[in-house]
Amino acid sequence: MFKKGSKLYSIFTGSCPKCHEESMYKNKNPYILSEVLDMNDTCSHCGTKYKIEPSFFYGAMYVSYAVGIAFAVAAFVIAFFFFKANIHVVFASIVITLIVFLPIIIRWSRNIWINFFIHYDKTIAKK
Ligand SMILES: [Zn+2]
Repeated sequence: MFKKGSKLYSIFTGSCPKCHEESMYKNKNPYILSEVLDMNDTCSHCGTKYKIEPSFFYGAMYVSYAVGIAFAVAAFVIAFFFFKANIHVVFASIVITLIVFLPIIIRWSRNIWINFFIHYDKTIAKK
């Protein structure tokens, strides 16, 4: 499921959506916060331009709501059902989860967004 060629691979690794050969990001580690949004302009392997149009990645904000909610729901389920925490602790767990995972949420949102528009191309990847 997470192998090269699946969209999930590109989304979770932040690799080029077209060839999956290299990272779109200058620094692969999202927790280097000053570089969390620093992307290469194009893929050095296949030449895909990541920023399809100016302000292309503003659209990723809509995706980040959905991704954020997914993390919040996961935090809720774990805290409430698994640890049987009271409602205040559950709420705090959700807030802390969102803060801790924010760099990942930001990147996954971008990765999901660009994967809506650019699709894996096997012929390019095999070169
Ligand atoms: Zn590429």
